[in-house]
Amino acid sequence: MSLIRCMKGKVVVGRVADLIEKVLNWSKKSSLWPVHFVNGCCSPELMQVSGPRYDMERFGVLPLPSLRQTDVILVSGIITRKMAKRIKVIYEQMPEPKYVIALGDCAISKGVFYDSYSTLAIDEVVPVDIYVPGCPPRPEAWLEGILILREKIYRGEK
Ligand code: SF4
Repeated sequence: MSLIRCMKGKVVVGRVADLIEKVLNWSKKSSLWPVHFVNGCCSPELMQVSGPRYDMERFGVLPLPSLRQTDVILVSGIITRKMAKRIKVIYEQMPEPKYVIALGDCAISKGVFYDSYSTLAIDEVVPVDIYVPGCPPRPEAWLEGILILREKIYRGEK
């Protein structure tokens, strides 16, 4: 009898822990604050997704200049070796858990600058969670990348 009660207690504790984790994940996915390292000809797309038509803020995504409060880094455009060091510094200053979304062919695979001595793909610098291809990726693709990241966070991946 006491063994059954003990097992039931474990089940209840397990369910409460699951529920707390789900609530925490839901709150994390609903308040993503990205720092943006957006450059090159991809950068106007950030204005599009921030504007009223695509409005990424409706998903709780609020670009923030303070690295200590951000949890996502949006990287687009050409990554030169010189800038890669700055991206690494930005990434290291962000608190855990932190995520990276790579946007556009240049950031993902050096794009049209694939044979340049001075460019790097972003996953040579920091670990990437979501890749959004395109040259440039359209605002819908940016939003899709953000929504996929939200789902990953809610499922507790990473
Ligand atoms: S992916 Fe295309 S649009 Fe974006 S920075 Fe590179 S060349 Fe420009």
